[in-house]
Amino acid sequence: MAHPDIVDALDDLALIDHHVHGTLRVELDREALEEVMTESDRPRRAGTTNFDSQFGLALRKFCAPLLGLAEFASPEDYVAARQGLGAREVNRRLLSAARLGALVIDTGFAAGNLTDLAETAELSGAPTYEIVRLEAVAEDVMREGVASADFADRVRDRLEAARRGGAVGTKSIAAYRYGLDLPAARPAESDVTAAMDEWQRECDASGRVRISHPVLLSFLMWSGVDLGTPLQIHIGYGDSDINMVRANPALLTDFLKASESSGAAVTLLHCYPYHREAAYLSQMFPHVFFDVGEAINYSGLQSHQIIRESLEIGPFSKQLYSSDGWGPAELHFLGARLWRNGMARVLSEWVDEGGCTRADALRIAGLIGRDNAAALYGLETLR
Ligand SMILES: [Zn+2]
Repeated sequence: MAHPDIVDALDDLALIDHHVHGTLRVELDREALEEVMTESDRPRRAGTTNFDSQFGLALRKFCAPLLGLAEFASPEDYVAARQGLGAREVNRRLLSAARLGALVIDTGFAAGNLTDLAETAELSGAPTYEIVRLEAVAEDVMREGVASADFADRVRDRLEAARRGGAVGTKSIAAYRYGLDLPAARPAESDVTAAMDEWQRECDASGRVRISHPVLLSFLMWSGVDLGTPLQIHIGYGDSDINMVRANPALLTDFLKASESSGAAVTLLHCYPYHREAAYLSQMFPHVFFDVGEAINYSGLQSHQIIRESLEIGPFSKQLYSSDGWGPAELHFLGARLWRNGMARVLSEWVDEGGCTRADALRIAGLIGRDNAAALYGLETLR
């Protein structure tokens, strides 16, 4: 059992959610809520409900009371209460209940439907910071039209402008577009130009702009490294665009060796089911950090196991907290609730076994929940 004083200390710890997105501005009916309760973009199998999941159980237990319902309210009552309060009030209640010290927000995906940096700050009561999605920058440059030889400079200029505008890092979703088995070495400018020619032809032929060329994806990662701010890399768990075999962070080993002396940190995001590989890499390389966000939400009652595994060989100074909340604010809130619960449970066991002192346990929670991220991204946070 978790010690009450450790539970209280974790509840008081204003977490830095270092990988998160905005919340949905639109009202969600039953079907719309079902759709965003899973990472799958496929239609649900007939006769099933996504409430029959760890996320469904956690939502009914922990979110229902915040909407004025009893624990384990029915899905019908939950949706009715959600609609009665309205999306904005639901977002405010759930985000503020997450008790965050700061949010580091990836603004690069489906941004139009989501609360932006300022709105998310207002709803959560915590400062927000921007992460720039590298592929989104490259696709914007392509849409605007650019000579292949000018592409690299244009992207670098955009990133530099974003950094000067306050962005605290960049993010690569190469795992979604190709895989992590990219060229590890920094591509030559002439290779970038040649790859850009190929991408240009592909865009002309398909009529859509979607970057997936391995040389260009590698160039983008190196552009993130060159900026000097932390480079976040999507690892493991994600929607069905992912080929899970090629989302293993061990595939980045040569890239991590090559970028080791750059001065920029690399943060491996979510990582499940490769959190053990990520933990290993974080121990090997001084500039590598990782988190186990997202999987915590979808593993609910079993999330303490993933948290426990993340604490096996990953140095405590190399781990971060994230919810990877995207869309429904239930994800932002539950990420924090379940992480606090799991950490309190595991750390209390360590104290009970005589393996560490209460002060050690609380210091470890503080490092992972807040202090590592504050130092890494250079954030002003609530305490
Ligand atoms: Zn993510």
